[in-house]
Amino acid sequence: MSFQDECRDGPVLIVGSVAYDSVRTPFGETSEVLGGAASYASVSASFFAPVRLVGVVGEDFAEEHVARLAQRNVDLAGLQRAPGKTFRWAGYYEYDLNQAHTTATELNVFQDFRPDLPASYRDTPYLFLANIQPALQLSVLDQIRQPKLVVCDTMNFWIENAEDTLLEVLARCDIALMNDAEVRELTGESNLIAAGRGVLNAGPGVVVIKKGEHGALMMSRDSYFTAPGYPLEEIRDPTGAGDTFAGGLVGYLARCGATDDETLRRAIIAGSVMASFTVEDFSLDRLFALSPEEVAERYHEIVAMTRFGAF
Ligand code: AMP
Repeated sequence: MSFQDECRDGPVLIVGSVAYDSVRTPFGETSEVLGGAASYASVSASFFAPVRLVGVVGEDFAEEHVARLAQRNVDLAGLQRAPGKTFRWAGYYEYDLNQAHTTATELNVFQDFRPDLPASYRDTPYLFLANIQPALQLSVLDQIRQPKLVVCDTMNFWIENAEDTLLEVLARCDIALMNDAEVRELTGESNLIAAGRGVLNAGPGVVVIKKGEHGALMMSRDSYFTAPGYPLEEIRDPTGAGDTFAGGLVGYLARCGATDDETLRRAIIAGSVMASFTVEDFSLDRLFALSPEEVAERYHEIVAMTRFGAF
């Protein structure tokens, strides 16, 4: 069984990094394993809807990894292969798993990445712009034709180095996904609700603020929703949690063919569920071993966990 069979709306287009990551956490260490925001988001979204990935890899990108993405029904016509090495990221986490410490970023082929949407991708209804240079996010928005929903992510580096372009992206997207530190930095507000309001003032109809293992909160101009993190006792590697969350959220909305407040709330829970699986193991290992039944089961557990009666 696959949720994709029930997908009511068109595919999801995901643009972002495909990487080889080297990660150390208090619970283990890996070297040059499959990572990248677009990889996590695509595999996560693929549980709910067909996915198209736009990114770049080098000559060293293993066929095994192409095959693994393709097995998840991720369309790779937009994955460019360029001369040189694949993007590499290295980092570690201490006992506070919410904080990644970067030790090396080797852009390699990502340095000259220009997202080029194949003609057949230009009418994709759902778009997730993962964390890349805001100017490149804008170039994707210029190529895609009237998407139903645009979701965008970013990182502190772009807030500090390309704020004006980032604000242009925010003005053109429907849902902004950012973590708590990023919304505070962008708006200069320490209070998260005020910071969320500040992001909404930049244009998007909805802001989703990710709070690591503490869940996520969603704000629009007239609604507020908070989702808990799934209470995991063992987190082995938090890398990719945010991107997995984003992929689950967009994929779920595409599956439902709706973006109203009620569906958005469920999409946030779907995203949290997917992220909770990713962090159970290194790289995309847990996502590749995951079944739709496990996803549904954990979703229902969260529903049961957060139920409470009338006053
Ligand atoms: P997350 O843990 O969800 O914030 O994302 C982790 C993923 O982002 C890793 O797999 C990295 O390969 C990727 N990543 C790290 N730095 C960058 C960057 N500057 N641009 C694009 N992707 C990155």
